[in-house]
Parts: sequence; C-alpha cells; structure tokens
Amino acid sequence: MKKTQYEIWFLTGSQTLYGDEALRQVDADSRVVADGFNASGKLPCTVVYRGTVKSSEEIVKRFREANAADQCVGVMLWMHTFSPAKMWIKGLHLLRKPILHLHTQFMKEIPWSEIDMDFMNLNQSAHGDREFGHIMARFKKPRKVVVGHWEDPEVHERVAAWARMCNAWCELNNLRVIRFGDQMNNVAVTDGDRVSAEMTFGFHVDYCPVGELAAAVAKVSESDVDALVNEYETLYEFADDCKANGANRGQVREAARIELGLRETLEKWNGKAFTTNFDDLYGLNQLPGLASQRLMNEGYGFGAEGDWKTAALVRAMKVAAEGLPGGTSFLEDYVYHLKGKGAILQAHMLEVCPSIAKSKPRMEVHPLGIGGKADPARLVFTAQEGPGVAATFVDLGGRFRMIVNEVDCVPPEADLPKLPVARAFWTPRPDLKTSAAAWILAGGTHHTCFSSALTREHMEDFAEIAQIELDIIDSDTNISDFRRELRWNEAFYSK
Ligand code: MN
Repeated sequence: MKKTQYEIWFLTGSQTLYGDEALRQVDADSRVVADGFNASGKLPCTVVYRGTVKSSEEIVKRFREANAADQCVGVMLWMHTFSPAKMWIKGLHLLRKPILHLHTQFMKEIPWSEIDMDFMNLNQSAHGDREFGHIMARFKKPRKVVVGHWEDPEVHERVAAWARMCNAWCELNNLRVIRFGDQMNNVAVTDGDRVSAEMTFGFHVDYCPVGELAAAVAKVSESDVDALVNEYETLYEFADDCKANGANRGQVREAARIELGLRETLEKWNGKAFTTNFDDLYGLNQLPGLASQRLMNEGYGFGAEGDWKTAALVRAMKVAAEGLPGGTSFLEDYVYHLKGKGAILQAHMLEVCPSIAKSKPRMEVHPLGIGGKADPARLVFTAQEGPGVAATFVDLGGRFRMIVNEVDCVPPEADLPKLPVARAFWTPRPDLKTSAAAWILAGGTHHTCFSSALTREHMEDFAEIAQIELDIIDSDTNISDFRRELRWNEAFYSK
C-alpha cells in the first residue's frame, strides 16, 4: 500500500543566558544527534531537527507548526542545557502531537582532565531535563521518556518503537474502517460506541452495503480472474482439486473474483480496514476468506463478524510493524490444550494473515458448515514459532481498555489433518491458567490482533499516545496484583 513519508520533529531546549557561542554549540550538537538517529537505520521515519528554542515565543511558534504539519507524527524534545520550564507552559498548552522526552547528553563520558565550568554549563541535561520533566509531570502530559547516550543502540530501538507507534497513530487518526454487514447478531464484545472511538482514536467507521460489493464482484472480468489465479499459483501450494480442471477450481476462481471486487470497493471507499460477517453475504458466492487473508497481507486491517475495533487495531499494528521481521494478523482464541502450562489453538473460520506463516501456504477448498454459502477457498498454514503479542481493546462504556498478553507460538504437538484452516498455537505468559483468568477479568475479546513483529514496548507506547488504559499480562503477572491493578485503573480512568 502507498507509504507516507513521516517525520519526527526534534527540538532542543536552551536559554539565552549562556551567550551565542554556547548556543551555536548546542545547535551543532543537536544536528549531530538528529543525524545519528537517521544514520542508525532503526527509525521508520526521518528525524528533522527544528532548531534550538530559547523563549516561550519560539516554543509556541514551533509547536503551532508541528500541530499544522501533516507529516509531523511526533515531537522529540531534549534540554541540552538548562531551559527554565516556565517558558514551555504556553507551548505545552497547544501541542497536540505525541511527545518523546529524550534524556541524553552529547558527551558519553566525563572528560576528567578537561572539564571546567563552561563545559558544565553547556552539558547539563542532567538538570535541564529534570526541570523539563517537572513541567511535563505538572501538565500530566502523556509521553515516553528515553534515557541514555544518543549513540546507544538500545536508545535507537526505544525511540524507534515510539516512532513506529507515532506512524500508526497518524494512520489511525485518518483511517476509515468499512463494514460489510453489521455485527454478528447479539455479540457484545465486538461492538461498542463508534462515536467515542472516533473521538478517542480518530478513525471513522463507515458502512458499505454488501449489495454494492456483490455488484463490484459481478463486474470482474474473466481475464482478471485468470491473471489473479495465475498469481496464486506462483505463491502457494495447491491442493489437487484446486488445480486446473480440479473439482474445486471454480471455487478458487470465485474467491479471486471476490478479492478483486473487494479491493476495488475498498479503494473506492478509501477504506484501509474492513469487516465482514459470514451471516450477511447477500449476493456473494462464498465467505471472502481468501480475500481477507490476502488483503491483510497487503497491510489492510481486518475484523470478522463486524468487529471494527479489531479491524482498526490490525491496521494500526500493521503500519507500526512495517519493515520489521515477523507478521501481524487477526486471530481468535478457539480451543484450549489444558496440558502442562497450557496452550491455545488460534484460528478463525478462514481469515488469518499469511504474514505469520511458517511455510508456503496451501490453497484448499472445503465446506464452512456455517453461513449457508458455497465452499470457500482459503490458505492453510501454521504460524511461525516464537514470541509475540496478542492485543485487543474493548469498550467499557465511556472509555476504552487495551489488554496485551505476551505469548509464545509453539509447534502443534501433531498434524491437524481434519482442520483445514490457518492457525497459530501458543502458550500465553505466564501460563494459560493465569493468562486466561486475567484476560477474562479484564473483559478482553475472543478476537485479537497478534503480532510477532511488535513487542509490549510498542503497545505501551501506543496506549500512552492514545491515553487509554493498558493492562499487560506477562511472565510476572499474578492474579491478586492484576485484580488490584484493574481496580486502581478503574479509579484512575473513570473521569
Ligand atoms: Mn470470530
């Protein structure tokens, strides 16, 4: 999908007290720091140094420019010298972009034999950044604080994680989620307040009649279907009955036709995330399973059964994960393996993204047993082993709560010859009993967004930027503490 060139604006705080020569040095050092981040190759966007600010007026001017600049997704701030923090007040009232407070120092080590009072005055982020931290705390500003030398790879990684979520946040603010059909009847957790969601996250949930999708599918030319099925054959293994002249070849062609119609409709509606509902497929031959798998793999967000929240989150996490190893997919908790630490078989009817596949997906056609449509085509595979995060956010009525579980994908203990759907098999940390109890106490969904490309730090940064509650279930979770955390969060977030 089309990429936007985003920027992180880097501003250095100082004051006029030190004289021009010191300020020239602050300016030169700041350029070197910005260049260092760009040269690290870790950041998903460009760091643009926007100057050293020395007065309230300069800060207001720069922050107004940041607010107005579409390409500016976040602001990184560093106090090279002391910068009296009252001069930041007017600007901080205005700034609406995500903030990272970089607490670094130009020189990595103290130059023992050279250090004098001029050096001390020039390199005093140790107290300049504390002064700045005070006013940020006083404002209760959501922000990330990253500490360490600006050449430290760990500092690059931490700034990069935040920058990735800034990109995702910008995309989410401008996202349109297209729903084909409504929620699955009577399901609570996949629904919620779409007005609150737009106020909190910026994304708009729209609705396209399934009949319009069906009409677009019906207009797809046979030659376009031929070309797409040829492409499938280069990318995937094919079951015998899906090969040319096979009994199910026609269903593969129908799936390709649906993919082409769905892509065209999403482009027309400017939707980068979408939902379907197996119970509302008027005019379509089969559930758009294969189409959902392939569009997710291109970067679209997806949620089944009308789950617009998960669709939006999948899109945001895919934007954040761009260029990282690993994959990101919609998934659903299906069946437990109550043995040892326990594990969960993750799948869906069909709609799992091939970006998480361990090996070449296999094209198969089988009955769905639900929804009353013809047998749908799907890509069958097992997820790559390794760590990842399973994330969701739920509407608690008046506010949103994000829940993230660190999980470890493991190989299934045996083949699953009678289960022709894509799947992941994971042990949630710290173990199934604790994880499932915590997840259920928090009111988490059965649908999640899984990513092996992102970590808890990305999700922490996301929740901080979005200013929503985040409850993390990890190897340190115990239920007594988790229950207390939920209650404390209830008090903190219920305003
Ligand atoms: Mn589902």
